[in-house]
Amino acid sequence: MRFVLQFTDGQEFPHALGKVVCIGRNYADHAKELDNPVPTEPLLFIKPSTSVVDLTKPLDPPFSLGDVHYEVELALLVGETLTHATLDEAERAIVGIGLAMDLTLRDVQTKLKEKGHPWEIAKGFDGACPLSAFLPLSRVPNWNALAFTLEIDGEERQHGEGSDMIFAVPTLVAEMSRHFTLEPGDVILTGTPAGVGELVRGSSLRLTLTGGLEIETSVVE
Ligand code: ZN
Repeated sequence: MRFVLQFTDGQEFPHALGKVVCIGRNYADHAKELDNPVPTEPLLFIKPSTSVVDLTKPLDPPFSLGDVHYEVELALLVGETLTHATLDEAERAIVGIGLAMDLTLRDVQTKLKEKGHPWEIAKGFDGACPLSAFLPLSRVPNWNALAFTLEIDGEERQHGEGSDMIFAVPTLVAEMSRHFTLEPGDVILTGTPAGVGELVRGSSLRLTLTGGLEIETSVVE
């Protein structure tokens, strides 16, 4: 069943879910923890729409394929078509903010990276992008003031702030639109802060985003 984009007030977004455009490293502390250099230009990749599932339902990734890592990320809902957008156009095209998990088959990804191969199967599998509903944006927020957290079994594991992003939201969205035309219904993941780790069966997860988004979910037993 295809994921339906909706706002936190229950209103459906009038476009079907499109692609999910992601950035690999957008927080210096996370690049460091994975022993990756801090990038000078964004490392972009795409998750297909078929990877998106409802974040509020128990997460059921393919544990048989090795370690699954959680990465909590601020998600942006695109409301306008953007190609080679200016910073201003990019910023105004974002109509909602939410939370997503960029689930990663870390063992699979590590092997692919060693061989210099693309990572699609490590990040684009069915269920690889649990996604929330979106807080509607009536005006451009103060991106730097946004903060989000992930707690697992009552313990805070990740804490991200807009002000810690290497590529701020308008810059990131404009840059993405230089490579891929963004369309209404596309979703952007803005990168994960430090604290990523293995997702364990049976865990309880709590995610929060300033502005009033709070989600409790779990991992299948
Ligand atoms: Zn990520």
